[in-house]
Amino acid sequence: MKLHEYQSKQIFGKYGVPVPKGHVAATAMEARQIAEELGGRVVVKSQVLVGGRGKAGGIRLAKNPKEAEEVAAAILGMEIKGLPVRKVLVDPAANIEQEIYLGITNDRAARRPVFMASAAGGVDIEEVARTSPEKIIKVHIDPLLGLRDYQARDIALGIDLPKEHWKQFGEICHGLYRAYMDCDATLAEINPLVILKENTLMALDGKMLLDDNALFRHPDLAEMRDVDEEAAAETEARKYDLSFIKLDGSIGCMVNGAGLAMTTMDIVKLFGGDPANFLDIGGGAGAEKVAAAMRIILSDKNVKAILFNIFGGITRCDEVAKGILVALKEVKPTIPMVVRLVGTNAEEGRKLLADAKMITAETLADAAKKAVAAANA
Ligand code: GDP
Ligand code: MN
Repeated sequence: MKLHEYQSKQIFGKYGVPVPKGHVAATAMEARQIAEELGGRVVVKSQVLVGGRGKAGGIRLAKNPKEAEEVAAAILGMEIKGLPVRKVLVDPAANIEQEIYLGITNDRAARRPVFMASAAGGVDIEEVARTSPEKIIKVHIDPLLGLRDYQARDIALGIDLPKEHWKQFGEICHGLYRAYMDCDATLAEINPLVILKENTLMALDGKMLLDDNALFRHPDLAEMRDVDEEAAAETEARKYDLSFIKLDGSIGCMVNGAGLAMTTMDIVKLFGGDPANFLDIGGGAGAEKVAAAMRIILSDKNVKAILFNIFGGITRCDEVAKGILVALKEVKPTIPMVVRLVGTNAEEGRKLLADAKMITAETLADAAKKAVAAANA
């Protein structure tokens, strides 16, 4: 689950990370009032769950409350990367001397959290990672020991942070690390962490990703979920308890079992295609769930073909076939569909689908080849 900037910064603030004293507004008038209370110049920031808002024009400075109102009105009418802006954060404007990147995520290969930092902050950190990876320093943290002071100093040294800021930087690292651990986050990021002209550090931006599987023990965080700003497909998938992740390709994949779903995506790629999603309908999925999954896949306009790869164990192929038929009646797809059914009740399943004008396949390789050909046709 993604948190908004203002939510992430609220959390960081509780852990002692210095953040601007701003507030969230849903209307231009509210933005003006906040600017009046803050006094002086403000920055009006769109609250959408995507990065690169600055470049998209979703972050603007305002000299006075009247200008804040105008700027907020413009930003509240915007769409950024397909997401409508429904809220803006109004923060006091900062006088920036330098922008730093500081983040923590999980390094699965190393099996521990890793701090990442760069003196080339502010801009797109993924771009820095691609073009000049040497500008990002990484420090792994032993989860049993936690962050040690010398490690925070190593990070500061690694990004050539002037020594006068080390103490405060250490406190920020500790705060960020505790926020990351306490919230069961998979990412806690400050980009930019700035050195102000006033010669102190401040987190101007904040981003947190939380582990969905741990949300049950954080009811207060779970409440922060902004369904309005989530991709509709993800909200829908959660409702039906489907594991769904949208990708950029053209082949919609409907598979039972996470491992099989990964394999299916790999094989699609092997034969030159690109999966449009990861989707695990789970064991024992009934018709209703399959229909929901199909609606979700078809709501993506990039999808040019659908590949069903069902290995019947607990899941019965005839149940899945019934689900497909229910969904076909409802959504009437016009794109080609390739289906591979094997295992429990596969024969019955195939019979049910005989009239559905689907392309059938025996093996997974055969199914993937046919799906790639169908998507490219
Ligand atoms: P993102 O583009 O979505 O990552 O949004 P950020 O919050 O990181 O803002 C992007 C950029 O806007 C920052 O890197 C800063 O250069 C600039 N910015 C943000 N807040 C302020 C501010 O208070 N004052 C000034 N001068 N620039 C700001
Ligand atoms: Mn940023």
